[in-house]
Amino acid sequence: MVIFMNNATNAKLWDAETPLGKPVHKLDEFAYFGNDLGAVYAEDKTVFTFWSPEALNVTVRLFTKGSDKEEGAKFIADLPMSKTFENVWRAEYAGDHKNEYYTYVIDFKDKRVETVDIYAKAAGVNGERGMIVDLKSTDPEGWNDDKHIFVETPTDAIVWEVHVKDFSHSPSSGITAEHRGKYLAFTEHSTLYGEGIVPTCVDYLKNLGVTHVQITPFYDFGSVNEAAQDDSYNWGYDPKNYNVPEGSYSTNPFDGNVRITECKQMIQALHDAGIGVIMDVVYNHTYQAQGSFFDRCVPGYYYRYHKDGSWSNGSGCSNDTASEHLMYRKFMIDSVLYWAKEYHIDGFRFDLMGLHDAQTMRLIRKACDEEFGKDNIILYGEGWHMGTACANGTEMANQGAIRSMPGVGAFNDNIRDAIKGSVFGAYDKGFVQCGACAERIKSGIAGETGSWAGKASQCVNYASCHDNYALYDKLILSERGGTGYAERFDSLVSMTKLSAAIVLLSQGIPFFLAGEELCRTKFGDENSYCSSAEVNQIDWENTGHYADLILYYQGLIRLRKKLSALRGANKISDNAKLNFVNSAMPCVSYTVDFKDNDTEGHVFVALNPCDYDVRLNLADTGLPKDTKWIAVVNKHSAGTAPLMAISELALIESKSALVLIDEKAYKAIFKR
Ligand code: CA
Repeated sequence: MVIFMNNATNAKLWDAETPLGKPVHKLDEFAYFGNDLGAVYAEDKTVFTFWSPEALNVTVRLFTKGSDKEEGAKFIADLPMSKTFENVWRAEYAGDHKNEYYTYVIDFKDKRVETVDIYAKAAGVNGERGMIVDLKSTDPEGWNDDKHIFVETPTDAIVWEVHVKDFSHSPSSGITAEHRGKYLAFTEHSTLYGEGIVPTCVDYLKNLGVTHVQITPFYDFGSVNEAAQDDSYNWGYDPKNYNVPEGSYSTNPFDGNVRITECKQMIQALHDAGIGVIMDVVYNHTYQAQGSFFDRCVPGYYYRYHKDGSWSNGSGCSNDTASEHLMYRKFMIDSVLYWAKEYHIDGFRFDLMGLHDAQTMRLIRKACDEEFGKDNIILYGEGWHMGTACANGTEMANQGAIRSMPGVGAFNDNIRDAIKGSVFGAYDKGFVQCGACAERIKSGIAGETGSWAGKASQCVNYASCHDNYALYDKLILSERGGTGYAERFDSLVSMTKLSAAIVLLSQGIPFFLAGEELCRTKFGDENSYCSSAEVNQIDWENTGHYADLILYYQGLIRLRKKLSALRGANKISDNAKLNFVNSAMPCVSYTVDFKDNDTEGHVFVALNPCDYDVRLNLADTGLPKDTKWIAVVNKHSAGTAPLMAISELALIESKSALVLIDEKAYKAIFKR
């Protein structure tokens, strides 16, 4: 076999020292490792490069518009491609042709297909044609000065998960009507709820203190008709064009440039607010199986199939892509790097990462490190163990492989379910409702380092995300049998505070669904992926009803940022000692002994899930005696301000967290 003979152009990534792994598909022998796939624009010419080893003939078809229905739509020309010695099809298109739309017409021995280029960087309405784009011209003003937001270690990140439309669809967002539900909503400032004084949207996020937003898919997905510009809604886990932003979030989905510029404006606005952007990427399946652009470009190559020829469907979405096939692996690496470089994306969340193979994730980590510095781009995903038609013995990128994927993290379903009951049982209860799952809570507090995580920085701790019930809904179901979604129940607010304390005081990357901190409800809708925007949207009116809860989250965030010792996987916490304390049962409680610069310090955390107060003699905890303690978190408040001084007896109120810091360390850390 002649393999890797033609990898002249991208030796950096694909050289002998970083092998891509063994070819597993017969077409892998013809793999192309250049970095010029797609339409590469220059003022004097555009060069098309396309990989399709079994094609007999390929033509670039050029159009004035992205669809035939638009005014001025016409066919321009067919441009023949020729097959090069490198096994790719290439065509040069002389002249300045930016903003022309294109497809590939491919003849195979048994059929002719027309397709969008899987490497298209711009597209027309509904992503039905690629577009030749002058990427420089899409940059918003000031883009050259826009910088990535990197944190020193991933556990410094505090992630808020939001959907572009959920963020501002509600009039209560205070966003101008034409920007509601769009990328541009993120660029508005001084937005207020109604007559209120509480800021909304990006200004609100700045106050909340989260370091990153994770944004639900905003590559081009297929389930929303962009031409309709109506109120249709989808989460967007149905990828159509991976390297093109979704059009329905732009103010003009017909002009391929607009969505790119506006998407960059969204990212720029978040960066200006000091907030990093983690992109939710769904490389594990495509919107369509048969007939997808991948299936048209190289039939039978990019997906997994069972022995009988049927499509593998571990994703539950009718198809599984094949990351172990070299050209899909390369596609994933190229795509991640493209978004990180062109759009200044700061991190990636891999949907159903457990369907990818571990080698691909390691190569993505390596490629990001080479370009941006070690572990600067945050990478984590859903590391569930999943069935898929991958060759036996392939190491899959699930939780079981996390230790062999340094710098790649996974969501912690253990703490998620332990906090408030399993996602598989609506009425199931967890720690905050009834004190159940205490041992599992401890495992999460230690960042699962005693379990599947190699380091706490590989563990994403959370109580709620877009999937399954919103936290408040789960509490309404398990505590109230599913009545009163839109009402405020103080007891449930207390449980939410306790949940937030667990997530934000644990080692790992804390993560929460946008609006968890204002008791966001989806009215019991467990899987709202295609429910109405009204069900999904954040109701900013809740900033008024739940001001106390928002302040509590804000305070915990402020505290976490100051107390490195609690976060895990950093210099201070690597030298700190975490001890669980048994004397405060049935509370889960622990002490952390640390050294921060020259200050030796001690923190005591107690989490009381009971309906009654627990009194604890601090002498029974193993903490140093004759110490004065400053409480910074209790049932009512959280933050860095001293709430009270305690010397011997601590009161841990019902359904609440208590955090104490010794006075000396408190003064050293919080006064500087
Ligand atoms: Ca779309």
